[in-house]
Amino acid sequence: MPDTVPYDFDLFVIGGGSGGVRCARIAAGHGARVGIAEAKAWGGTCVNVGCVPKKLMVMAAEYGTMPAEARGFGWEFAPGRHDWQALIANKNTEIARLNGIYSRLLEGAGVRLFEASATFLDAHRLDVGGRIVSAERIVIATGGRPRPPEFPGREHCIVSDDAFFLPERPQRVVLLGGGYIGIEFAAIFAGLGSEVHVVMRQPLPLRGFDDDLREALAEAMTQQGVRLHARCGGVRRVTADGAVKCVTLEDGTEIDADLVFAAIGRTPNTETLGLDRAGVEMNGFGAVCIDTEQRTSAPHIYAIGDVTDQLNLTPVATAEGHAMADRLYGPGPRQWAFDKVATAVFFTPPLATVGLTETEAAMRGPADIYVTRFTPMRNTLSGRSGRTLMKLVVDQQTQVVLGAHMLGEDAPEIIQGLSIAINCGATKADFDRTLGIHPTAAEEFVTLRTRTRVAEGPREPERDAQSLPAAEMGAAEMGLGC
Ligand code: NDP
Repeated sequence: MPDTVPYDFDLFVIGGGSGGVRCARIAAGHGARVGIAEAKAWGGTCVNVGCVPKKLMVMAAEYGTMPAEARGFGWEFAPGRHDWQALIANKNTEIARLNGIYSRLLEGAGVRLFEASATFLDAHRLDVGGRIVSAERIVIATGGRPRPPEFPGREHCIVSDDAFFLPERPQRVVLLGGGYIGIEFAAIFAGLGSEVHVVMRQPLPLRGFDDDLREALAEAMTQQGVRLHARCGGVRRVTADGAVKCVTLEDGTEIDADLVFAAIGRTPNTETLGLDRAGVEMNGFGAVCIDTEQRTSAPHIYAIGDVTDQLNLTPVATAEGHAMADRLYGPGPRQWAFDKVATAVFFTPPLATVGLTETEAAMRGPADIYVTRFTPMRNTLSGRSGRTLMKLVVDQQTQVVLGAHMLGEDAPEIIQGLSIAINCGATKADFDRTLGIHPTAAEEFVTLRTRTRVAEGPREPERDAQSLPAAEMGAAEMGLGC
């Protein structure tokens, strides 16, 4: 289409998830004529089958132990039972409310909404649910979906999209994958009373996270009765006998279950977009290839969020969408620190992390490592077991804090605050001269006086989740911040 022909839209966004909605809304606010297409539900993965419902369900699981734990504080609650259907219904109501907020935000910004899927006809035209629309610029923000397993019997497995709508809570669950989703659903099902097995190829969950954090998580999971099948080599097959499934691992172990849940990663949603007709290139995994300004191989077509398969986190997609709208139609992009993105995994207790792991730091040069583990104050009266872990990774030469890691109550809230300091380049001395709030767990981050070790080069091989010494699982000294 020649440049002289007016387009229906200045910008058309394909996908109404976190990234797409932010991009459309901000671009429209800058005066662009914007359209957006969403085939399923406004808000995308995060709102509908991801972060939001997941966290509500983790919260549901946390209530399970509260009556027993409150006894130490003088309360007597009668034992209760959990109503799974009530949880799912209430969660669905809340998600529907959020869907409405998202669509109203878009309409309020003057964006034209299409509740349909979009396919490229050529580089500037799209078929949107049977209507042909043209746009000067197009943003692909179609996200991803759970990757299905490939072993025999995969039809007996569910993925995370299904897990949010199960008619009842399964009594025995096998989770395949020790990543974000496997760990978070282990917390949900175990907390609500199911027998949970997590099957992993690695010695510890969460490959890529700091090793101390991974060990602390494996301990916490084991303490809560989650059975970890580490270094199992993967799944050989799944068979079904009526409602009962049997998972056979590559190491020969067999596990019976009512639900087999594959959480083995996600794959970008590009298959039905007709990207070849628009000249947009993908990599070998089906992700849209982009340059540093989110531009695809077609210079007027951009891609943001999980469809690019880079850092698959909601705040990253949102920031990319916002930055692009500002760059194309506004005063220029806001600067985000994409190199030090804090992230959390909502186990109970949760863990959170920002910056470099010990191993990553040591590969750059000597690093001072500060680690503390303590029994949180609440556990003294509640009788709950489990210890908090806090860790700072500090560049030995400059004393800049390169990374902060925590497993324990409120870890995501605490690390979110610390990530500002770390993004500002705070040194260990800056942490040391900061006064704590007493009594809190967070104050431990500013009272870490004694260096635990110096890290130089890679650490010794990882310990196995199943070989963590039992002695480490008991209560230890209490963190008093004194
Ligand atoms: P992850 O990439 O986090 O983890 C995948 C897990 O599956 C890994 O343990 C991996 O093992 C394992 N795995 C991969 N392939 C196989 C296989 N063929 N057989 C056996 N195991 C396998 O993916 P998730 O599905 O858990 O989550 C997807 C993404 O969603 C995350 O990466 C994250 O970006 C996002 N997310 C973020 C959340 C948050 O911010 N709290 C919450 C949920 C999801 P190995 O290490 O050996 O490769």
